[in-house]
Amino acid sequence: MLSVQNVSISFKSNKHYNTVVNNISFELGNQQILGIVGESGSGKSVTSLAILGLLSKNANVEGNILFNDVDLTKISEKEFQKIRGNQISMIFQEPMSSLNPSLTCGYQVSEIILQHKKISKTAAKKQVIELFNKVKLPRAAAIYNQYPHQISGGQKQRVMIAMAIACKPQILIADEPTTALDVTVQKEIIELLKELQQETKMSIIFITHDLSLVSEIANTVLVMYKGEIVEQGLVEQVFKKPINNYTRALINSKP
Ligand code: ADP
Ligand code: MG
Repeated sequence: MLSVQNVSISFKSNKHYNTVVNNISFELGNQQILGIVGESGSGKSVTSLAILGLLSKNANVEGNILFNDVDLTKISEKEFQKIRGNQISMIFQEPMSSLNPSLTCGYQVSEIILQHKKISKTAAKKQVIELFNKVKLPRAAAIYNQYPHQISGGQKQRVMIAMAIACKPQILIADEPTTALDVTVQKEIIELLKELQQETKMSIIFITHDLSLVSEIANTVLVMYKGEIVEQGLVEQVFKKPINNYTRALINSKP
């Protein structure tokens, strides 16, 4: 479904290009949960932004990113707008980077639906309340009318997840979605993502710097180090028999 082929990403500064992702290749299949793990600065977010067409103007992407045979490195921003939030969605570490503080939670999710589907505002509102129930927000109808600052961090992340799955995407990219949350809420969100994956059959790219989360959610994993993929495979295999020194150190550093 998604095939990242020999992708390198560099940023221009002072006439020089600084390569931050170096010739990476991987596949994301149907219904798969792929974990991408690596320390801060290893190129995880830049890779996901490239898939979403959200890199800044000074970025240069080489290689190919095929999504259902469309090369995402070749399409216009206008074409991306039809895909983003619709066929490929994302959630980030900080929900407020995507939620508008001056609009109600429900309104923001309904706008996404109305942007991509030809349905009435009333029908969209009904769908949003169903989505809020699906992501296990308490008092879904009340939260519809609340502003982001009126709900907790975990609830905001649930609103973000509702927004991300609103249009039934084929791929959800979750970039450190639980890093800003405390441990119990983190576990709940992981469980929710697993349940939603089972139910909707979407594929998920779950990005984290925390290897232990990968074993909880992912089927396959790739390990990034300084812009390169140093290891990839089935989660059990990589955990049992890591071939790379960095991966070994990562696994051994866990209690
Ligand atoms: P992480 O694995 O922590 O998500 P990132 O993908 O955010 O790492 O960053 C990888 C590298 O790319 C870092 O060295 C970062 O400083 C650099 N980088 C990210 N965005 C930009 C940008 N817009 N311009 C220049 N360098 C960037
Ligand atoms: Mg990041």
